[in-house]
Amino acid sequence: MTTKVTITGTGTPILNPDRAGAGVHVARGSTHLQFDAGRSTVNRLAAAGTSLQELTAVFLTHYHSDHLVGLQDVVLSHWINDIYDVYPSFELFAPNGHTVAFCERMLDIWEADLAVRALHNERDPHPRVELRGFDAPTEPTTIFSNDDATVLSAEVRHEPIENAVGYRVETPDGVIAISGDTQVCDEVAALADGADVVVYEAMRMDEIRKRPKDKQYIIEYNADTRLIGKQMAELEVPTLMLTHLIPAPFTDAEKQAFADEVREGGYEGNIIVCDDLDTVTLDDGSVSTPMNATRKQAKP
Ligand SMILES: [Zn+2]
Repeated sequence: MTTKVTITGTGTPILNPDRAGAGVHVARGSTHLQFDAGRSTVNRLAAAGTSLQELTAVFLTHYHSDHLVGLQDVVLSHWINDIYDVYPSFELFAPNGHTVAFCERMLDIWEADLAVRALHNERDPHPRVELRGFDAPTEPTTIFSNDDATVLSAEVRHEPIENAVGYRVETPDGVIAISGDTQVCDEVAALADGADVVVYEAMRMDEIRKRPKDKQYIIEYNADTRLIGKQMAELEVPTLMLTHLIPAPFTDAEKQAFADEVREGGYEGNIIVCDDLDTVTLDDGSVSTPMNATRKQAKP
């Protein structure tokens, strides 16, 4: 058996026709875990060959809209496509506070739609989602576990957002860390310690500093490419997947610039500057990358 990591969205709040909103899908056996659900997540999951029927659990990192606007779509599509009433419920993990509050209220505005569809189909008007709120832990703490995967979470540094978290997925095939949105910080290092693959949000500081002063505020709470390189080198992480790319690259040269800056931080492992649906597969600690991803690796 293997564990497959698929990036369902590499985008940001800034619209881009080729980049869906934030999301990472991790699959092993019959376990399908989705981390965040930005815009077009359901389309990307379908393109990746994953049925919503297979969804085991969704994990949210924080309440910024670009990580959540696709969540209602996931929940409603899961319910609507369940025309034969065979879709099992899935769990929805969210840090307590505003993220849980969003989840509790997100279906309220769909009440009439749910009712009329339920009437047509003679079915329960309540989507089968089990919300699991948790207090953002200060160090990696297990919040989900089954035979295929154990998921740990810990608070990361995305202030002024409160209770933003990252995740660590441990499977018999290897370990994947997902930074969520964050500065480069010790909290991410704890999640990524010993990981085979790290999915890291990435921002090119040099580009952001070219913007007007009042547009540079995002520098304070996102991950600097060079600091990512330094941290990943210290942790000796074999494979790094960069996502949530700020600013979005449109050319190969702009993509390469992300990798080059990570190299400047001292990192010599595999770098994938991700497009939507890029994948890696973990098999007993070794990581294989598809050809399209391999071509994007920058040489040290
Ligand atoms: Zn954010």
